[in-house]
Amino acid sequence: MDVVTALEALGGQGVALLDAIHSGQLDRRRLIDLGHPLSTAAKWTNLAAIFFGPTRSRRRQAAAVAAAREGRLSIDAMVVVDKHARKLLKDAPVDVWELRAELCALTGTVDEIDRAAAARVRDLNRRVTDAEKKAFGRRSLKGGKNSDAQGLRTVTVTLPERMMADMLAPLRDTAGRLRSDNPLLSYEQAMADAVVAHVSGGAGPAAPGKFTPLVVIGLPDWAKLQHNEGDETVFALTDGTTITGAELVRGRMAEHHLVGVYDPVEGPVNLYRESRLANTKQRTLLSAETILCPNPGCTTSAAECQVHHLAAWKFGGDTNLGNLSMACKVHNARNDDDPDDPPRNGRLARAPGRIVFHPPDGRPAETNRHPIRELSAAGLVAVGRC
Ligand SMILES: [Zn+2]
Repeated sequence: MDVVTALEALGGQGVALLDAIHSGQLDRRRLIDLGHPLSTAAKWTNLAAIFFGPTRSRRRQAAAVAAAREGRLSIDAMVVVDKHARKLLKDAPVDVWELRAELCALTGTVDEIDRAAAARVRDLNRRVTDAEKKAFGRRSLKGGKNSDAQGLRTVTVTLPERMMADMLAPLRDTAGRLRSDNPLLSYEQAMADAVVAHVSGGAGPAAPGKFTPLVVIGLPDWAKLQHNEGDETVFALTDGTTITGAELVRGRMAEHHLVGVYDPVEGPVNLYRESRLANTKQRTLLSAETILCPNPGCTTSAAECQVHHLAAWKFGGDTNLGNLSMACKVHNARNDDDPDDPPRNGRLARAPGRIVFHPPDGRPAETNRHPIRELSAAGLVAVGRC
């Protein structure tokens, strides 16, 4: 068996692998001898104990295993499922085994399952009283103690999404200024310099016009909000975070601009060939439409994106909504702009009602399946909520 066939055979065999570990055919020592790091061996043996070990919910455990086998989940996908299932808060409306069975039925790449599972568990946890307070208890700053081979150290900061977005916004402003002073700085380098500058108090005055994220709301939900009935409805913000109706009403309304959702008709906001740069109105609509960069797997929020011409400006593309999309800096730069050049990186295009990515190898068009995008204006229109 060649190595590719071996990898293919292993791909959908997460359940079989865990079964082999649980039945003793494979143990931690053997996994390490096969070349896996201790951390992986430990993770898999713990996972085998969860999916095959003793539990009071044997029936639901069997249902989860059956779903994972049916969906041919890889071991990595099962690791991801369990990682999120563990974050279910105690008073959540479903039992953890029901949740595992549900998450084991997810399809897609490991990254897609990762994000869909995170969104689902988040959704369930929001319904727990004091969920935010409980999650807030898990905020942390870890690391910073070990040097790598180049003498560098790393810290990881964990915060509720809104606090993180609020903390990063001024850092991004500072990083932007540092980069316009020194174009050789990469984005990551500039962000690191910005952190140091802010912590040491040397960041200078804050840039005027603090960024305000937009909240995307379907019209029926807007009506519910006005009547204080939309407490549990979850809305997306153009900085890639989410907020519930209750949070919005609880005094945060004034901090955000609200965007009602409508079908973006062409006409009033088109600039044709007058200007290469999109206007604020267009940016607003495009941000509400995508929430994130539309490239599959990309997590850059619309707030950090650039406006991208689907048919390039230099080839005669108009600055009209139908020809525009938000795209992150990387994917904007990588896009195959010249329709006459052989495909290299693929390109974004507008399909009915959404932006799609055409891979360079001619595979069918893909979309960014990040769960938050279901709350984008395009997502809301697509499911007919307005
Ligand atoms: Zn991107």
